[in-house]
Amino acid sequence: MVLAELGGSISRALQQMSNATIIDEKVLNDCLNEITRALLQSDVQFKLVRDMQSNIKKIVNLDDLAAGHNKRKIIQQAIFTELCKMLDPGKPSFTPKKSKPSVVMFVGLQGSGKTTTCTKYAFYHQKKGWKPALVCADTFRAGAFDQLKQNATKAKIPFYGSYMESDPVKIAVEGVERFKKENCDLIIVDTSGRHKQEAALFEEMRQVSEATKPDLVIFVMDSSIGQAAFDQAQAFKQSVAVGAVIVTKMDGHAKGGGALSAVAATKSPVIFIGTGEHMDEFETFDVKPFVSRLLG
Ligand code: GDP
Repeated sequence: MVLAELGGSISRALQQMSNATIIDEKVLNDCLNEITRALLQSDVQFKLVRDMQSNIKKIVNLDDLAAGHNKRKIIQQAIFTELCKMLDPGKPSFTPKKSKPSVVMFVGLQGSGKTTTCTKYAFYHQKKGWKPALVCADTFRAGAFDQLKQNATKAKIPFYGSYMESDPVKIAVEGVERFKKENCDLIIVDTSGRHKQEAALFEEMRQVSEATKPDLVIFVMDSSIGQAAFDQAQAFKQSVAVGAVIVTKMDGHAKGGGALSAVAATKSPVIFIGTGEHMDEFETFDVKPFVSRLLG
């Protein structure tokens, strides 16, 4: 179920509840079951959905609500709050400060959109007057450096990498040192991915992270990953200190649930979403407006 459909299903469930003459236990349960079904179809992890359902039931205790209380409004508000809670880990991510050098490391599986997203992130900040730079520490995928170089050149962003060096840690350290000397305030390190969550990938990530001491590690996730999102995100979080999530390919037939699951697994907020292949198809992400839109 794609995001728009998820929103539609939830809205319909709320509408049906609103149409009922009396809001009793059955009407509430029907509404919650409908929402649960929609969330599960959107690949939100089962445990999250179950927790949400029981939290809403705790908030909306029909027996305790005296007549005259607007039950519909209270239920709608509880659903809104719980959906927001799923997407909001409760603490903001580290936010780089302009003119103060920050190192931001990107991690994610191959094909997730990591390299594209690194450039989008750099470009977004460059437009706001930052001095970003890109370091290609992906020595695993042939062509990774060329891709980053091409993107960086197009966006006129300084970059660093090597065709010869095979040690990603060495390249990452050299790149970060160089751009610190050049007074760049946002040094972005693109790391290598693999098709699967392999031990070698996580070891390499750990080493690059230890050597470059990033201020922020961003986990990049393809929104179409579905039910695998929770485990994948958790595996990355266990290896490096993921502090934020960027969900890519939200323009496609993405199941939105993956994003919710990634937030829960990493306890980190989604900070941006990718909405296309182009450099400027990149949006900041805020929970409340997103959920409001989702609910129509
Ligand atoms: P990496 O292997 O993780 O570095 O992935 P890439 O950056 O090479 O991206 C893989 C593919 O996904 C490329 O064809 C990108 O153009 C595409 N891509 C990345 N982000 C988005 C997005 O937000 N929307 C769409 N439609 N495609 C994207």
